Order: sequence, then structure tokens, then C-alpha cells
Amino acid sequence: MIPYGRQTIDEDDIKAVNDVLSSDWLTTGPKVAEFEQAVADYVGAKYAVAVCNGTAALHTAMHAIGISSGDEVIVPPMTFAATANCVVFQGGTPVFADVDPDTLLLDPVKVEEKINEKTKAIIGVDYAGQPCDWDSLREIADKHVLRLVADGCHALGAEYKGRKVGSIADMTIFSFHPVKHITTGEGGMITTDEPALARHMRLFINHGISTDARQREQQSSWFYEMVGLGYNYRITDFQCALGISQLQKLPKFLERRREIAAYYDKAFDGLFGITPLVVRKDSFHAYHLYVARVDGDTLNCDRTTLFTKLREKGIGVNVHYIPVHLHPFYMEKFHIGPGSCPIAESAYEQIISLPMFPGISDEDVELVALKVKNIICS
Ligand SMILES: *Cc1c(COP(=O)(O)O)cnc(C)c1O
Repeated sequence: MIPYGRQTIDEDDIKAVNDVLSSDWLTTGPKVAEFEQAVADYVGAKYAVAVCNGTAALHTAMHAIGISSGDEVIVPPMTFAATANCVVFQGGTPVFADVDPDTLLLDPVKVEEKINEKTKAIIGVDYAGQPCDWDSLREIADKHVLRLVADGCHALGAEYKGRKVGSIADMTIFSFHPVKHITTGEGGMITTDEPALARHMRLFINHGISTDARQREQQSSWFYEMVGLGYNYRITDFQCALGISQLQKLPKFLERRREIAAYYDKAFDGLFGITPLVVRKDSFHAYHLYVARVDGDTLNCDRTTLFTKLREKGIGVNVHYIPVHLHPFYMEKFHIGPGSCPIAESAYEQIISLPMFPGISDEDVELVALKVKNIICS
């Protein structure tokens, strides 16, 4: 089976992890700060806080901006559930605003319609690796005095009008799960330019305790204080060593992802019934996913048929995503359901994610494109 995504790990990565395993610090050691600095430098942010996964990073961000019971946060439905779940962790209410039909990115017009006196923040998701319309979202956030947060889990390396994702919103969240651009096994990061947010997040991910084990050792001190309620959301040093090593390969990974996308684009160009999502001219798309829409009315074959036939042929296509507001948890808890985000809901019937990862061979990319064409043209 050709998967839709997978990690690329080489000998340097393995050596980097091994070196840490025989060092003094498996966790709260020097590799954590080194990885944070490397990511901050890469995206052009002042601060980066590393955590154990992207979901913990989202939760940490929601805590840092003080989301609590009664607050509303606007999120898109076309995302992984964690984007909305992090609001619920804090007792808040995620409010789903529909997406743009061409890009499936949060639609600023729909966002503004959802704002009321309870709204505290907007979380934009750089879906598939393409940045949101951040200028419009920023304008809306400033006008209504809202926090602007980016779920950049698909978009490490992406750029919006020449600015890297990670340096645009008040806070940006990344994930280092194996299907993402770089991996630490499990891992996450929050980037920000605001020192107060960074300080708050460092406490929150370490039980709300004011110093970590290494700082205490350096100061030959046993004293610490818990100044707030926090979690243990720390990441280990061997994971961060892997992250540092992976980050060096990110430019190559991005180049390969864009090459694969260009191949698919060309293969489907001029074919009726299959349309890749629109890519905006002002962005550098990082292609976490390659998503196309399958129009069952034009073809003899709808998305689900194409999906089933490709899976039968060993091609691990996927669907990203089931709109979050259609999950039973959200429908029951927040009394929402079909009809509230019609654009995301109809896109969900048509979208398919094709295999997209740096390690896929040219032959496999050609095979995927050929099988898609054969099925939709038969
Ligand atoms: C992967 C992902 C997350 C969660 O990251 P984990 O590291 O798996 O917890 C959140 N949001 C989006 C959009 C993602 O793709």
C-alpha cells in the first residue's frame, strides 16, 4: 500500500537520537532549547515553545490567551478535530465559520458574521499547507479586539505574501507527527513574538512550576514554586534532537512535495470531473496534503467510488476531513449539525487526498496519477 503520508528518516536522524540517548539529559535538557531556537529562527518568530504534540500545543495556546467558560472561538470545520477540541478543553465554545469553496480555507466574511460579545479569538487553519487570507483575518481580529491564532500543523515552511507561517498570527501551532513536514515521533511547538505569552506557556507545560529541573540543578537549588495550574506537556531531548536533524532537511522535503504537486496538477490538467484545490498566487504552498475535488455529476464515478477503487489497487488515498461540526460529540454537545457550514459539507462529499510525502518514488507518483485517470475516464 502506498500511504498518503509518511516520515523520511535517515542515518543522520538516527545518530542524532542515539547521541542524546547516551547523554545526561533525556528530557528538560539542552536539545529542547536548541530545537525551539531553530524553529523560531526558521519561521522568523521571537519565541518558540516545544511540547509533546500538536494538540497539547493548541491547548497551551488557548490557555495562554485566557480562553475559559462562556468564551467563543471561531474555527473552520475543515480541519482535524483538535483545532476545535482545544477550545472545549478550556470550557469554551468553538463556533464554526464556513470555508471558501475554492481553497477550503476559513472565509473571512463568514468569520465576521459569527462575531458577538462572547467571541475572544479566531483560529485559522492553513489547510493542506496553504496559508489563510491572513491580512483579512488580521483586520477583523483588530477591529473586534480578538486574538488571532494559526493552526499551522499543515504549513511548516509555507509563506503568505513573503512571510513565513509561524510569524503572522499572535501564536502559531505546529505538529511533528510522522505525516507532517518534519517529525519527532510525537511533538508540537507554539511560536509567538510576545514574551508574556511565551513565559505563560513555559509555565503551563511544566505543571505551572517556575523553574525546570535543569535550571534548579544549575542553580544548586531545591526551591521551586507552583504559581498556576499546569500540565506535563514536555517533549523529550531525544525527540528534539530528531527535530533539529529533520529541520535541516525541510527545504528539500518542501521542494519534493511541490514537485509531486506539480506532477499531479499537470496530469489532471484539462480532465473534467477532477479539480485540484485552487492555489492562491500570493502564497507558497507547503503541500502537507494534495487535495482534489471529484465531481460525481460530471463523471460516472463519485469520490467514494474513486476512493474504494484506488484503495483496492493499493493506493492509500484518504479524506481530509469529515467536517468537525458533524462529529457526534459536537452535534450533541453544541446542538449543531448538517446545514450550518454548507460549503464544507458539500466539499466533504467530493474531496480526496492523494499520496504526498517526500519519500514517494517518481514511479509511484506516476502510478497514482495514471490509476486516477483510468478510473475516472472508464
Ligand atoms: C496534526 C494536526 C493537529 C494535531 O497534532 P498532533 O501532533 O497529532 O496532536 C492539529 N491540527 C491539525 C490541522 C493537524 O493536522
